[in-house]
Amino acid sequence: MCDKVLLDDEIIRLVGISERALAILKENDRIIDLRLHAYLPSKGPVSVPAYVVYHNAARGPPCKGGIRMSSDVTLDETIQLAEIMTYKSALMDLPFGGGKASIVADSRLPPQEKGILVREFAHKIRNELTSGAFVPAPDLGTGPREMATIFGETHMRECVTGKPIGIGGLPGRREATGYGVAVVVEQAARELLNSELSRLTVGVQGFGNVGSWTCTFLSSFGAKITAVTDVTGGTIDRDGLDVEKLKDHVVKHGGVEGYGKHLSNEELFKLDVDILIPAAIGCVITGENAGEIKSRLIVEGANAPTTKEGDEILARKKVPILPDILANAGGVIASYDEWMIAKSGSRTKQEETYSTINKALVTAFKEAVDYSSANEVSLRKAALALAASRLVSTMEDRGWI
Ligand code: NAD
Repeated sequence: MCDKVLLDDEIIRLVGISERALAILKENDRIIDLRLHAYLPSKGPVSVPAYVVYHNAARGPPCKGGIRMSSDVTLDETIQLAEIMTYKSALMDLPFGGGKASIVADSRLPPQEKGILVREFAHKIRNELTSGAFVPAPDLGTGPREMATIFGETHMRECVTGKPIGIGGLPGRREATGYGVAVVVEQAARELLNSELSRLTVGVQGFGNVGSWTCTFLSSFGAKITAVTDVTGGTIDRDGLDVEKLKDHVVKHGGVEGYGKHLSNEELFKLDVDILIPAAIGCVITGENAGEIKSRLIVEGANAPTTKEGDEILARKKVPILPDILANAGGVIASYDEWMIAKSGSRTKQEETYSTINKALVTAFKEAVDYSSANEVSLRKAALALAASRLVSTMEDRGWI
């Protein structure tokens, strides 16, 4: 985990957050620390740490957040990610608290073995799931298949979002986060860079759920995707990559490396692309590399990709950053619809999902830009201040403060 900008003194002063409210926001509502004991055919018997964190449940239950599966994930990182979810849901004005779960295991395990761990995890937190306290969704290393496993354990559609369509998944949920990233990029190109997307080049780190759909939608909106990297390596084509061909390559070869001309992750962050989109892991824009970034706009498809030092350097260089709680909120907006539909039994169409995401993100983008210019703060601080003021007023409404 690295140092990340969340509430700082400037935001606390701007919003007027009281000591009592701050004390609550600085703590976690609940931490569940588990060990999953299982037999994995490729590894034998294993005992795997797993965590569930509810950061702030004022706007819940449920607490909402993804399940991360990674060998590197820690409890501290899970706490930070849950905190991000608190502010993201508040910024989007959704009635969700901030939560997150993690399973400390290699996400490249065979799908059947991931399934064994996820089933054990769902079994152990069954009460959290069936009581509606925690509603998970996909995150790094998990996807619809793992959400289907959770549904298989509970047989309650409202217990999990990001499910496959056949068991009550929302049409458009799979693409939702990447679609949302593309929507805010289009807004920012026009409002902050005074340019149409068709005149801009884009570099993306990560070609999983968020990165690949971001590339699909951005290229359909006219942008030129010139560079993509992932855990295996990367590729560059200054004339523009064919996103669909790259997707086929990843399905066949398990990663981006080997497609066209090689590009490393380090090189991506020094490239002269107009827009840089980290959409993989955390802490990749740091005090070490932020000074070398040439891009005119950073869009946080990933959660917490920018460290505090990286953020300060980019602020000095006057490079705007669309923060994670705004840029990648398409997923949680769609999850809200999936959760509501699971409860009501109604149905919807992909176009309606896109339209809901579009409206919510265009509104949130405008609010953040207006707040930022009215108060002369970065877009990140503006988004956090808007979210924090909603949270404080919800805590007042609930008699917490
Ligand atoms: P994913 O598992 O589908 O894809 C992850 C991608 O990151 C893969 O392309 C992988 O190769 C790449 N990657 C992993 N380690 C890397 C490394 N060390 N260097 C470079 N690339 C690396 O995950 P995802 O769902 O696309 O999530 C990506 C990010 O977006 C995460 O930060 C997640 O928290 C955030 N996010 C996801 C969603 C969602 O709906 N899935 C919603 C909001 C935010």
